[in-house]
Amino acid sequence: LKSLLNDPSLLCEKAYVAGEWVTGDNGTFEVTNPARGDVIANVADLSRAQVAVAIDKAHAAQKDWAKWTGKERAAVLRRWFDLMMENQEDLARILTAEMGKPLAESRGEIAYGASFVEFFAEEAKRIYGDMIPGHQRDKRIMVLKQPIGVAASITPWNFPNAMITRKAGPALAAGCAMVARPAKETPLSALVLGELAKRAGIPDGVFSVVTSSRASDIGKEFCENPKIRKLTFTGSTDVGRILLKQAADQVLKCSMELGGNAPFIVFDDADLDAAVDGAIMCKFRNNGQTCVCANRIYVQAGVYDEFAAKLAAKLAEMKVGDGLEEDTAFGPLINDGAVEKVREHIDDAVSKGGEVVFGGSQHNLGGTFFQPTIVKNVTQQMAVAQEETFGPMAPLFKFEDEDEVIAMANDTIFGLASYFYAKDLSRVYKVAEALEYGIVGVNTGIISTEVAPFGGVKQSGLGREGSHYGIDEFCELKYVCLSV
Ligand code: ADP
Repeated sequence: LKSLLNDPSLLCEKAYVAGEWVTGDNGTFEVTNPARGDVIANVADLSRAQVAVAIDKAHAAQKDWAKWTGKERAAVLRRWFDLMMENQEDLARILTAEMGKPLAESRGEIAYGASFVEFFAEEAKRIYGDMIPGHQRDKRIMVLKQPIGVAASITPWNFPNAMITRKAGPALAAGCAMVARPAKETPLSALVLGELAKRAGIPDGVFSVVTSSRASDIGKEFCENPKIRKLTFTGSTDVGRILLKQAADQVLKCSMELGGNAPFIVFDDADLDAAVDGAIMCKFRNNGQTCVCANRIYVQAGVYDEFAAKLAAKLAEMKVGDGLEEDTAFGPLINDGAVEKVREHIDDAVSKGGEVVFGGSQHNLGGTFFQPTIVKNVTQQMAVAQEETFGPMAPLFKFEDEDEVIAMANDTIFGLASYFYAKDLSRVYKVAEALEYGIVGVNTGIISTEVAPFGGVKQSGLGREGSHYGIDEFCELKYVCLSV
């Protein structure tokens, strides 16, 4: 991997703790390239005690960082952003090598991830409080927004860069310090952010990356250490529930970006070609491994067969392969478990009357490569209706009318992203308001941007990331009552 980088010093295998590169008390753990199965790095495996030390140092560093003016914090965060973009190609290669997504998507992720640092650098200057007219003649009410303290983040492997920056950007902008624990599958994309933070002049201790193969130990330290005042997590609803329970003892403020089960609805008045393009981007980006990927595709009866045929024709033109090859559209899945899940959903659908009309099995490249798949005649009784596949299977449900599809779309414990394609204006309003989701894409399959609030309702999460709302997650309101 080093030989693929313009700047080989960006490949970091030690943990980044308060400005220093440290080895792990538990030795190292291996990072493999999912496209080839080979080991590309051995990364420091920190113990829980080492993470406690990182938290101590973050706690000490945060005191001074909070005193910096917004403009001062903005300047170093802007440098961090600039360094990410100057090294975009190297960061993208590291990301593809450890995670598998095609290089073009990795470049996109680096730009997307960096955009949170850029946006929140700008926002650092605008963390405004409020003056509220007093409730008595001699009273003045002042409301301050202050940094909450030390934040801990736990992030998944599917967006190894952006899931961290969209937490670190607002945290640091607000004057918090952050201790980040990346997924063990993808620590290299996190560690390089430490290296660039150092180069940008972010003070030691304000941003640390604690790599460890022991997720639950680190999760416990984050929840039980009283110096952590904020936990920000992206991952599955199951792990989110565990963390929320653990967080209760310290009454720890939590943001949770959890699982989704996104409906993608195509009405018969939709621009069908646009809907097909949207479905490709939305269902198959990152090979179906994003929490906002369409999981259930509902198509109105009149356009059902045509939609399926057009979707299949597009997929037939797209190449499955190693993400480091330029023309690859679909990389491998992250691991065998991911392949297993796709298999289960296809088998379950077929056993209940579903029909595979495209793909359906593992790819002849072997490993964790899987064919992009379309299944027709899918119903609410199948497993895919209730759980995220997190893989390249597009299940097509048929529906007759608006009320029916809204009821089916909302029939889930999840509520992150949803999408629909329609032209009729009153339908657009009605459906957008009726979908019980934190995010609704109308006539678009791509909704992620740093300037909008991203987050879910129901069991998809708590809080929002991105936009001016995102910074509130890292601030406390203080009400000062002044008697004059
Ligand atoms: P995914 O399926 O995307 O990996 P998970 O929720 O399993 O979603 O994992 C998200 C992140 O949470 C990963 O970094 C994982 O290592 C971490 N994690 C898993 N279990 C726990 C736990 N009990 N406590 C803290 N972190 C955990």
